[in-house]
Amino acid sequence: MKSGRILDRQDHARDGAGMTYVYPVVSRRAGGVSIGINLNPNHACNFRCVYCQVPGLVYGKAPDIDLDLLEAELSGFLDHVLHGDFMARRVPAEARRLCDVAFSGNGEPTSVADFAAVVDLVVHTMDDAGVDPGVKLRLITNGSLGNKDHVQRGIARMAERNGEVWFKFDAGTDAALEKINNYPGGVARQRRNLREVANRCPTWLQTCVFAWHNAPPAEADLAAWLAVVAEEVALGTPLAGVYLYGIARQSFQPEASQLSALPSPWLEAFAQRIRDETGLVVEART
Ligand code: SF4
Repeated sequence: MKSGRILDRQDHARDGAGMTYVYPVVSRRAGGVSIGINLNPNHACNFRCVYCQVPGLVYGKAPDIDLDLLEAELSGFLDHVLHGDFMARRVPAEARRLCDVAFSGNGEPTSVADFAAVVDLVVHTMDDAGVDPGVKLRLITNGSLGNKDHVQRGIARMAERNGEVWFKFDAGTDAALEKINNYPGGVARQRRNLREVANRCPTWLQTCVFAWHNAPPAEADLAAWLAVVAEEVALGTPLAGVYLYGIARQSFQPEASQLSALPSPWLEAFAQRIRDETGLVVEART
């Protein structure tokens, strides 16, 4: 451990526990302790979202993963959480609950060379540690590699262990995808990937909304997003729902000073519009 300080809701440092791949977070989204697995200690991603909070983000993919080290860190930390004094010493009383183990780090987790092998190792380690089957195994992903065989196998394996995918879906047009996420792959490709992922494991869309130069998203962009999501629902893509969230912390991207959070009523109104127009469950978090 690097320090014995109490973790709080502001504490999202990836090295909170002084390890390479494993870090604890008290998650405002999940309502308890999340054990994060950061497969991108090199801060590499194939997106560059304008709101990205990864410091020193670089374009690229995850490095080779030291599976022995990952296993040692995860099994040791699970033991500390489940049987040691981690919760008592470092977590506020109201958050002393292990709510998930999540692939969520400083870049795109599925850009590892063999995501399925990593999932296998994590599932075995959770089972060996006696983690309650109700504790979810989550993947926070931009979804762009959902066409890869090793990613699909890993996601299917997650589904067998109470898995859940949060699939980034900020844009309904190619132009918005390029502007918000700096990703040129196009919405049609993202939609194909979404179907590949959602048909293998329960999948939520995660959609970030924010003001740019103090203006909320243009109505044309909102309408395009809604039309695409409604079309996926009509096509039978099995979506669990939508996490709609704002920007709670400062972006580390050059656009940071241009971005600001939208007021809660705006988010709530858009959440209701999504419910009305798509029939999906929507959770809005500012
Ligand atoms: S997908 Fe995630 S890690 Fe990658 S740039 Fe976007 S916010 Fe950052």
